[in-house]
Amino acid sequence: MSFASKLPDVGITIFTVMSKLAADHRAINLSQGFPDFEAPAELIEQVSHYMRRGLNQYAPMQGVPALRQRIAEKIKAIYGAEIDPDAQITITSGATEALYAAITAVVRSGDEVIVLEPAYDSYAPAIQLSGGRPVYVPLAFPGYRVDWDRLRAALSARTRLIILNSPHNPTGTVLAPADAAVLQEIAAERDIYILSDEVYEHIIFDGRPHQSMLRYPELARKSFVVSSFGKTYHTTGWKIGYCVAPPQLTVEFQKIHQFLTFTSNTPIQLAYADFMRHTDHYLHLAEFYQRKRDLFLDLMKGSRFKPLPCAGTYFQMMDYADITAEADVDFARRLTTQYGVAAIPPSVFYHDRQDHRVLRFCFAKQDQTLRQAAEKLCRI
Ligand code: GLN
Repeated sequence: MSFASKLPDVGITIFTVMSKLAADHRAINLSQGFPDFEAPAELIEQVSHYMRRGLNQYAPMQGVPALRQRIAEKIKAIYGAEIDPDAQITITSGATEALYAAITAVVRSGDEVIVLEPAYDSYAPAIQLSGGRPVYVPLAFPGYRVDWDRLRAALSARTRLIILNSPHNPTGTVLAPADAAVLQEIAAERDIYILSDEVYEHIIFDGRPHQSMLRYPELARKSFVVSSFGKTYHTTGWKIGYCVAPPQLTVEFQKIHQFLTFTSNTPIQLAYADFMRHTDHYLHLAEFYQRKRDLFLDLMKGSRFKPLPCAGTYFQMMDYADITAEADVDFARRLTTQYGVAAIPPSVFYHDRQDHRVLRFCFAKQDQTLRQAAEKLCRI
């Protein structure tokens, strides 16, 4: 019996493919983005504490109230926005769920969605499953800035949503205040929504301020802002994220969330709420990862890889044109199997598989892991 796939062009995500290849070949895994060091011990202790106290049943559909309160306080402190934790915040099972729910809430059949490429791989399938059409706008290589003229030219009467991601995975670029200014003009002219993927909001370097949509009331009014505790607290495997949106959009968002997962892990939400009250962990994250970026760059100076600028995230793009003319997918595979270091080939983040002969390396690793990886990479 033949089966007509709803996503005929989608295979297994590159993160699963490369992490498995790395494990099969015992390679150092700088591909999928996750730390190889521990989460804060106090946070782990708090999760066990709540489990032992018997807080093991469903959390409220919107998320644990104390956690939503802490998020609203943090947003007020950093971005100056007044957010109602009851009407505007939903806790989700990772940012992945939040992205899917936001897209599903607003995209209808025939709608167009602006997607800047290279793009994180979960956006396009969600748009397509809602009957929408991704309209791809490339970030110009090698700077990966948004070309606003090109973006404007891609807008049409059917444009329903613009998806943004800053700091940007995989390129490490960030939006500047001037970008937010143009976006405000576009948003004022049109009846569109914004989905802003800000999971790396605290991993931004060299003193730059993160351009959250929540800083700009006119943008916040039309935006779903998505973040993830996984990146901020070194707990990617716990899969808790959240979405901040205006009340009316939150109502629509929750209609999807309640039937997608209904709610997320209770003791972990309670633990994050406590941890956020007692520590300013996130304030030190930029410095923590900037040091790792600089260490990795320093270690790689003796290699034939050439770094591209990295202003945020825990990913470093490296140009390998001096080493080989191979396609990035082939080189990533050979790097893993032959040289023992796994990386991500960014061509998979383009619908037309554009290949600029660069690889993405994750530096959210112990210094020793970075040293061992760089040693191997310098031998190539
Ligand atoms: N966001 C992580 C990355 O870019 C991986 C997430 C995933 O594996 N789905 O590497």
